[in-house]
Amino acid sequence: MRIFHTPDSARHDPERYWRRGTPIPHPEQASRYAILQEAAQAAGHGLAAPGDHGLDPIRAVHDADYVTFLAEAWTRRAEIPGLADEILTGAFARPQMHRKPAGLLGRVGLYMADTSTPIRAGTWPAVYGSAQCAVTAADAALETGHAYALCRPPGHHAYADSAGGFCFLNNSAIAAARMLAATGGPVAILDIDVHHGNGTQGIFYARRDVLTVSVHADPSDYFPFYAGYADETGADAGAGFNRNLPLPPGSGDGPWLEAVEAGLAAVAAQEPRGLVVALGLDASEDDPIGALRVTRAGFAGAAERIARAGLPTALVQEGGYLCAALPENLTAFLAAFDAAR
Ligand SMILES: [Zn+2]
Repeated sequence: MRIFHTPDSARHDPERYWRRGTPIPHPEQASRYAILQEAAQAAGHGLAAPGDHGLDPIRAVHDADYVTFLAEAWTRRAEIPGLADEILTGAFARPQMHRKPAGLLGRVGLYMADTSTPIRAGTWPAVYGSAQCAVTAADAALETGHAYALCRPPGHHAYADSAGGFCFLNNSAIAAARMLAATGGPVAILDIDVHHGNGTQGIFYARRDVLTVSVHADPSDYFPFYAGYADETGADAGAGFNRNLPLPPGSGDGPWLEAVEAGLAAVAAQEPRGLVVALGLDASEDDPIGALRVTRAGFAGAAERIARAGLPTALVQEGGYLCAALPENLTAFLAAFDAAR
């Protein structure tokens, strides 16, 4: 497997996160990058740096003003008196409030969904580098069949104009848009992270040239709460081109793999010219914030089924949090994918 990664991923290292009323160490830590990178290297995969494709592939799915905000926020931090080591707010725009304030602090609340995405000194290089990994993996998948982007921070909760759920730039959506531009489409995204890929759904919801399929834990009592239900099937020209496959909490390999197969059947029906897999590993039975009970064999089984689809495939890292099984589940997935291709 060709793997694209950048040490810049470790430059975003949030410390704190509010969970159920308590500040805890942030689950999306920079050490995730080193753990996944070292596991992939030890397993003998070919690692390389991404190319620098600039901002155009990012702006293909993200609002230009939002991208500028992310890129410039840290250099504008003096505009927020008393700021410590990160830019964050406790005041967020609600759907009933539509004005775009001039001040930086107001922009933070406009462009973020929650408090999980602080902007720190190294945030922009980390998210920019991850996006470049996604673009480079999309190109490589079209050229050679498949590639893996070790993106960190993850991306699938980021909408066109908002961060949230640990995500800033939607790497999976950026990869899909890259494949779409190169092939003319259609292309498909299969998201197997334990959380619904709400940002990805939002970006492509009214489009039929990018099919979005997400297999995840039922959001009725689980993040992202406000999207991810089975009756969300797309809108306007995209009607019928979004598929959600929520599973009851605690579901294991059997129902999870059945849902992955159903997702792949929807993908096959679209006859896409490329596939992006939003590869979260937090469906693991060992994940500290997961809600499903997928085993290492389950991840290998998903990899086999995805590989057998025979499509140019870009694997894009999404969630998967600190536990002993995290690197094992990645290497099991990559090995099974390689063996089945
Ligand atoms: Zn997740």
